[in-house]
Amino acid sequence: MKLFEQQELVIYNSISKTKEKFKPINDGSIGMYVCGPTVYSNVHLGNCRTFLSFDLIFRYLKHLGFKVRYVRNITDAGHLENDADSGEDRIAKKARIEMVEPMEIVQRYTVDFHQTMSLFNALPPSIEPTATGHIIEQIEIIEKIILEGFAYIVNGSVYFDVHKFNETNSYGKLSGRNLEDMVANTRDLAAQSDKKNPQDFALWKKAEPEHIMRWPSPWSQGFPGWHLECTAMSTKYLGKQFDIHGGGMDLKFPHHECEIAQSEAALKTNPVNYWMHANMLTLNGKKMAKSTGNNILPHEIFSGINSILSKAFSPSVTKFFMYQANYRSILDFSNNALIASEKGFNKMMEAFKMLSEISISDECDFDPSAWKQSCYDAMNDDFNSPILIAQLFEAVKIINSAKEGNIKLDQNAITILQDTMQLFIFEVLGLQENLIINTTDDTKLEGAVAILIELRNQARINKDFATSDLIRDQLKVAGINLKDGKDGTSFSLN
Ligand code: AMP
Ligand code: ZN
Repeated sequence: MKLFEQQELVIYNSISKTKEKFKPINDGSIGMYVCGPTVYSNVHLGNCRTFLSFDLIFRYLKHLGFKVRYVRNITDAGHLENDADSGEDRIAKKARIEMVEPMEIVQRYTVDFHQTMSLFNALPPSIEPTATGHIIEQIEIIEKIILEGFAYIVNGSVYFDVHKFNETNSYGKLSGRNLEDMVANTRDLAAQSDKKNPQDFALWKKAEPEHIMRWPSPWSQGFPGWHLECTAMSTKYLGKQFDIHGGGMDLKFPHHECEIAQSEAALKTNPVNYWMHANMLTLNGKKMAKSTGNNILPHEIFSGINSILSKAFSPSVTKFFMYQANYRSILDFSNNALIASEKGFNKMMEAFKMLSEISISDECDFDPSAWKQSCYDAMNDDFNSPILIAQLFEAVKIINSAKEGNIKLDQNAITILQDTMQLFIFEVLGLQENLIINTTDDTKLEGAVAILIELRNQARINKDFATSDLIRDQLKVAGINLKDGKDGTSFSLN
């Protein structure tokens, strides 16, 4: 008997806004799709929180004995600057600024993403398809949507007709919005756009002459709209209808709403049975985001090189901090929170190691099977990691009491504690010993100079030019030259 037949898993479904008993389409197998990163810059800790939430889910589903096909894409084209249908492609823009090929940008940040995920000990997905590798599949879906009468062609671009779709289907059911409200709250941009209605979204965009990322299509040399890639890749690898679709909360609208509309229009199916959304990691109470600069990068945490940190923290401590909150709750990042998590993490690991030193008694004051089931109950309740961690701390209390001779544990209890802690700490939460990552000397130097540049900027703001000049001159003596430019201060070595 597989574990999933003994444990009853419930999942909070974002579309019904309730916890539902989980039943996969095919017994014993699960198809799970998670929107991956747009690879135009380093992933920040907020992005990591979403991917680590789904790593925990993937790990637990596998542990229960399900055969999971986990597809997480790489967005390497089509994601425009403002998340809508205008502006420059994020990757093309970065390539233009750096005067490199867009695919060099894609390569660099895909590698960064993989390295970061591996430092966090996240499992790789089963399939990691790219948007640019699935242009043909995207064109095929557009053709179907046009054929079904839910899209129109204007000047070489193709738009999804949201109003037409809403006549027979319901646009907005995932995000809880309705089209009338959207219309009432939208300024009329018709004069600036080829769209019939501002709510329509691009399936294919004709490339302007300066747009370098372009492919041939029946309508124009152009590129696919951002929402389309996920419909194309999830359908290709998981089928028209699959079990779980995940992503960050900010993708619910418009991205996931548009995915539903595309599938219903082209394939006549509601694509997803369980929608799961991970909530945001915030910094100073505001969403961590690439675009605003309000973020912290994983390597800054692992090296301790960021002015908001008092020290370095390991990937496992960082992950432990995240898992101490439910994936559906907003979580605010702070140095103090990490310090508290590190204390808790070390306490848990020490207790786990101490288990082998406890003297075995014939008597037992603890019910290990009930405790073990409570660990499962926590995870069965929509992957409630903070409750699981609270249960692990129950075990810590028991172990410490046994060590001090206040309670007795028999061999069976010690074995169950050992196996269950091993399972949940290492296999399900994917934590590792508290290893501090060795950053390269280059990273350390960059971090140290960044702090000095920051101090110099502060001195200049305070009109303390004696200090700001001193910092610059002393760095020069040390062979480090500061250069002030319009994007800030950079440095070079002699
Ligand atoms: P992007 O690379 O911008 O497409 O984002 C990749 C993933 O990170 C998406 O699932 C986003 O929803 C998620 N994400 C972005 N910002 C945050 C944040 N501050 N906290 C949690 N997840 C985030
Ligand atoms: Zn997506």
